[in-house]
Amino acid sequence: MRNDTKLAPETLNAQALRQIDAGKGGLTPAIFPSTTYLRDENYALTNPQHSYGRDENPGFVVAEKVLARLEGGEEALLFSSGMSAAMAIIQSLKPGDRVVAPRIMYWGLRNWLITFCDQWGLALDLFDPADPDAMVQTVERQGTRLLWIESPCNPTWDVIDIAAAAEIAHEAGAALVVDSTVPTPVLTQPIRHGADLVMHSATKYLNGHCDVVAGALVTARKDELWERVCHVRLHGGAILGAFEAWLLQRGMRTLFLRVRKASESALAIARHFEGHPALRAVLYPGLPSHPGHAIARRQMDGGFGGMLSLRVKGDAEKALDVVKRCRVFTRATSLGGVESLIEHRYSIEGEGSPIPKDLIRLSIGIEAVEDLIGDLEQALA
Ligand code: PLP
Repeated sequence: MRNDTKLAPETLNAQALRQIDAGKGGLTPAIFPSTTYLRDENYALTNPQHSYGRDENPGFVVAEKVLARLEGGEEALLFSSGMSAAMAIIQSLKPGDRVVAPRIMYWGLRNWLITFCDQWGLALDLFDPADPDAMVQTVERQGTRLLWIESPCNPTWDVIDIAAAAEIAHEAGAALVVDSTVPTPVLTQPIRHGADLVMHSATKYLNGHCDVVAGALVTARKDELWERVCHVRLHGGAILGAFEAWLLQRGMRTLFLRVRKASESALAIARHFEGHPALRAVLYPGLPSHPGHAIARRQMDGGFGGMLSLRVKGDAEKALDVVKRCRVFTRATSLGGVESLIEHRYSIEGEGSPIPKDLIRLSIGIEAVEDLIGDLEQALA
């Protein structure tokens, strides 16, 4: 395996750390479907690293090693989904522990946290991500073991200062977890800002082609919490399939190109539509008018991400009408693929959602930006 620390991350990633298949000389890793491994006459494993398919798979290694390297972490683990990666952390907590998370974050996880924490004797407090004081006050409450953040927060793109969050969490004796699905390690490496764990829905940008559901965790260090997380994956069994792991490592090879192109286009779209007469606001941390812009500049490197939201002047009906009129954007949930997606978050999240009804979320892909701008122009006209 190539171990040249002088090489840029994109070089290591494009060459998948150059893990040449030793047996055949192949430049891409093989797929290992076997669930069990041979023992010799003395009942010793012929290859002591491999025993059973739920423990690990030789095919995970490439994506895990590349991701740990890109995030500046010590080790990474793949999971069968982003949610199972998140749950491995939550299941590593003990009854009575307190979890703190933003009120605006990936809604599926927020809702699941509310249900799970209640059922498993964990305390949960949510804070307003647009208010840094609220985060401090909430974390300071006794028994906080985990501060969970996203930055930017999906889908309003409020920016949380990761370094400040790490300081607050550590002072309280808590670990900081950052769901870094949206910025990816191309734009932000939370561990370098003090995070203890980084989580990804690898279903999104890491894979990048809307054809794999996967999750990943990266740890800053192999400590007791990480040991418990490894234990949960081993015995809980939320592992990724061999073929999905292979697809993921292949998708990851173009991560830098895809994320940079999406970020450039998102910035161009945000600039173009800021002040548009049909819009109440354009929410994008790359705009100087965004309240989190200064922090985003500090903690994001090389772009502000491929996600933005538009708030139309009008109600849910008006927003849905704009979504309906789009021809280049595809109406679908999810994000981080090569094709641009448009969605009305309130319709997805439903009654009780804190997301404004006039908000349209855009996941920008790698198409020509003029086509995307033209499509939104005609839809808003
Ligand atoms: N985190 C974020 C930011 C997400 O957008 C999602 C899914 O949409 C998840 C976590 C959950 O990941 P998955 O769908 O891979 O389980």
